[in-house]
Amino acid sequence: QGILDGKVALVTGGSRGIGAATAVRLAREGADVAVGYVNGKEAAQDVVREVEALGRRAVALRADAARADEAAGVVDAAAAALGGFDILVNNAGVGVLGPLETLSLAEVDRVLHINVRGVFLASQAAAARMPDGGRIITIGSCMAERVPGPGGTLYTTSKAALAGLTKALARELGARGITANLVLPGPIDTDMNPADGPYAAGQAALTALGRFGTADEVASMVAHLAGATYVTGAEISVDGGHAA
Ligand code: NDP
Repeated sequence: QGILDGKVALVTGGSRGIGAATAVRLAREGADVAVGYVNGKEAAQDVVREVEALGRRAVALRADAARADEAAGVVDAAAAALGGFDILVNNAGVGVLGPLETLSLAEVDRVLHINVRGVFLASQAAAARMPDGGRIITIGSCMAERVPGPGGTLYTTSKAALAGLTKALARELGARGITANLVLPGPIDTDMNPADGPYAAGQAALTALGRFGTADEVASMVAHLAGATYVTGAEISVDGGHAA
């Protein structure tokens, strides 16, 4: 008997990294899972097979979070495919770092569209679909707590917006027992930020634990929040002490 038995979850960006680990973790707790992706069809289908091997239902859904219609529409597609909608994990995101003067308008629009507008629209669509007691869990970043150096203006702007969204969603939806929370990962070993990448040692050194985290270490917090009934509007660091 899992804590999420009978629940339906959508994990955006569920094909790789933190999202893939979260999809599998939610399935272990009993949820059926829609796995969002944009390019990684094969990877998303691998995650679907992993969820199915746990005895849960799963579907891979292509949706480009940069497109308003798809960012919202994937919620309806998940509900249609799996027959309900209880948990939204806003995980899809892009990390564009670089000196302020090099960031083009196209890059600014793209990052804000995926990391902020897409999250807003998916949350709006999910709130309209969810029964009382639903969950909205968003993946922010430790960079919104503490910016350790230059090059993070655009990414940090996008991730900081999620704090406002999360608190306001908690107030907006609390009367329905729907919770909204923000997880702030530190450096996590994924394609976006490999633990053997050129900037990895510096990032690990900024944490209290002196190491990168794993996608599973973030996924376990998301699963906890999916089951938690009296946590809302919270920002929870899973960052090895990056903000300490
Ligand atoms: P990855 O780059 O490993 O995976 C990104 C995921 O997002 C993929 O599933 C990808 O799909 C999907 N995605 C990317 N762009 C879009 C889009 N336009 N529409 C829909 N889906 C999209 O990233 P991580 O697992 O590292 O990151 C996941 C989240 O965690 C992000 O929001 C990131 O900002 C955040 N984060 C990560 C940290 C880290 O150190 N890794 C630290 C702090 C926060 P596809 O496979 O189809 O390309």
